[in-house]
Amino acid sequence: MKYLREIDPEVFKAIIDEQKREDEQIELIASENFTHPAVLEAQGSVMTNKYAEGYPAARWYGGCEYVDVVESLAIKRAKEVFNTDYHVNVQPHSGTQANMAVYFSILKPKDTMLAMDLACGGHLSHGHPKNFSGSLYNIVSYGVNKKTEMLDYDEIRNLAIENKPKMILAGASAYPRKINFEKLSQICKEVKAFFVVDMAHIAGLIAAGLHPNPFGYADFVTTTTHKTLRGPRGGVIFCRPEFSRKIDSMVFPGTQGGPLMHVIAAKAVAFKQALSPEFKEYQLQIIKNIKAMIKEFKNRNYRIVSGDSDNHLLLLDLTSINLSGKEATDILGRVNITVNKNLIPYDKKSPFITSGIRIGTPAITSRGMKEPQMKDIVNYIDEALINKANEQKLSEVKQKVKELVESFPLYKELR
Ligand code: PLP
Repeated sequence: MKYLREIDPEVFKAIIDEQKREDEQIELIASENFTHPAVLEAQGSVMTNKYAEGYPAARWYGGCEYVDVVESLAIKRAKEVFNTDYHVNVQPHSGTQANMAVYFSILKPKDTMLAMDLACGGHLSHGHPKNFSGSLYNIVSYGVNKKTEMLDYDEIRNLAIENKPKMILAGASAYPRKINFEKLSQICKEVKAFFVVDMAHIAGLIAAGLHPNPFGYADFVTTTTHKTLRGPRGGVIFCRPEFSRKIDSMVFPGTQGGPLMHVIAAKAVAFKQALSPEFKEYQLQIIKNIKAMIKEFKNRNYRIVSGDSDNHLLLLDLTSINLSGKEATDILGRVNITVNKNLIPYDKKSPFITSGIRIGTPAITSRGMKEPQMKDIVNYIDEALINKANEQKLSEVKQKVKELVESFPLYKELR
């Protein structure tokens, strides 16, 4: 970054500091990942210069021949990654904007939408009162069964029959178990609701055939590209062909202006990588790693929400060790382990405090860490949490974290 170093040393320093932070910390935030340097290169390219309102071969600007190449590649590869003939729009700037374009295509203000309760794992864009979704629509939420802490399809069906939603949304930010898209699509058929799946968190697992597939069941599938898919920050919409015109015009000009062509180029690169056999191995390892962590947490008598995980994340209930999610996040931050506080189902604490933390394995798996390192990491988490007031112990754990991350340098595995 020779130009940046010279022209803007402050921004240059912040970027170098961030790179160092990413290298030195054990990154357990379930929605984050380390994307490949090839993706970073595409994203940092001259394609950021180009205005390309419209779609390939139908643009409002001249000079779009090369951005057309990358957008067409991104579309073609996205279909291949998910083995689908759904229509694809790769332009949404984010997952939230992908959801917005879908909702605007099928709902009118005040229409009813049935989606997962945020307190049980849903996302802000699934109806939080401070999000556009919560203020525009009548949101009815389903949670998880109090006993099993898993989706209760009978409850969802009852809510659907009672409230007659125009749309039912499946997908979550903090749900560790499989989602049965087939059952949900049957409920949608019964109540004549559109079925939307937001697969942002689990897209990589679905691409690798390690989670039930929503294609064929959902009318619309949205995703982000930066979580398990390990691409650049952004969104994508898939829809049944009959909705293609509506979706395209709701993304542009409905909710966005010019597409971020440098990001779309990076999405194309990420999709190419997602088609490789190594990507499947990587997704498999993400799951093996979460299973290894769960085993070790259980050995240490921690309670795992719903008792297990089928995907890339787990929810740890900290009630038994008398710590809040907020306290645990702060303590772990002091030993260079990054997690986020998270509500557990039917949490008695507020969303600012919480009784749990969410832990995910996509990022550490990208560094090449496997089951033995999962055992070490759980060990460090446990040691830090139970010795929260012992500075000596905490600095010993921080040293062990340092040694671990140094043996798995960031980007060594990905190059
Ligand atoms: N949908 C789900 C399920 C998510 O977890 C997230 C982000 O965490 C989003 C959508 C929104 O993505 P973005 O932050 O790109 O708007």
